[in-house]
Amino acid sequence: MEPGLSFEELAFSPGVLAGWRFPVARLTGAAPGPHLAVIAGVHVNETSSIEAAVRLQRAVAPPALRGRISVIPILNQPAIASRAQYVCPIDGKNINFSFPGRPDGSFSEALAWAVLEEFAADADVLVDLHGGDLCEQVSRFTIAQEIGEPAFDAESLALARCFDAEIVVRLGPEHLAAPGRSTTGRATRRRSAAFAEAGRIGLVEEENVRFHLEGVLRIAHRLGMVEAAPPLARTPVMTTRYLWVNAPADGLCRCRVEPGERVAAGAVLATVEDVFGREIATVTAPESGWILWRVTHALVAADGPLFGLAA
Ligand SMILES: [Zn+2]
Repeated sequence: MEPGLSFEELAFSPGVLAGWRFPVARLTGAAPGPHLAVIAGVHVNETSSIEAAVRLQRAVAPPALRGRISVIPILNQPAIASRAQYVCPIDGKNINFSFPGRPDGSFSEALAWAVLEEFAADADVLVDLHGGDLCEQVSRFTIAQEIGEPAFDAESLALARCFDAEIVVRLGPEHLAAPGRSTTGRATRRRSAAFAEAGRIGLVEEENVRFHLEGVLRIAHRLGMVEAAPPLARTPVMTTRYLWVNAPADGLCRCRVEPGERVAAGAVLATVEDVFGREIATVTAPESGWILWRVTHALVAADGPLFGLAA
């Protein structure tokens, strides 16, 4: 292929995806080399990551690139019109927890499968960019999926460390058994991937856009595709478990901690009040750890997620 930037509307083979087209930018370098595949917009309100996927297309001049970079800036096309949070409105499923998927599954499951087996089938690394749906604020963190083989796991961690993260979550091989994120789906095929989160409440914010864009450029540099990449500034906290902390009651939530903060086991993370201002519940940290994200909307429902905690 000629070096340069080109665009196409990609169609996937599963029947349930018939009629849907997924815009792809293809950046072809002057010299042969690896294939880096990038997706954003699994969650369409996570706009800092989507913006990074758009800027990436012109962030590397084709003559300076070895190999190819393919970018789907918004994967969850059916969610765009309604700005659906978390899910794909066609089947009500969260694509983010549908990998590796299957070609004869529901829309989200088929799309997850198509990302792995068609869009990124020959990719050396698949990068999935996230963070900051309409009612959440996330820290800058990355997830490394491990399979229990030292060489693969070291590479997963190295890819996760390409982002200037506050927190890295290493997920163990036990996660491979259930549907999960793209990085987990790739790992079931022993293929490398990176997964990054940064952003808040649907906003495009420069620092979060840069977090995503520079992380992808560091991966390109690691793969030998570009000569240089921006330096890292942080040393992340390394964790091995991703916990969800849910609301104990319906009410108005008063958060006491912010994403990125360290908390001790039993520390008060939030209180919940009724509409008369009476405290009806306290939310505490189940373990010591770091706050990955928090829900920003004051209205919470019993058993709905409030915090992500890395332990
Ligand atoms: Zn997301």
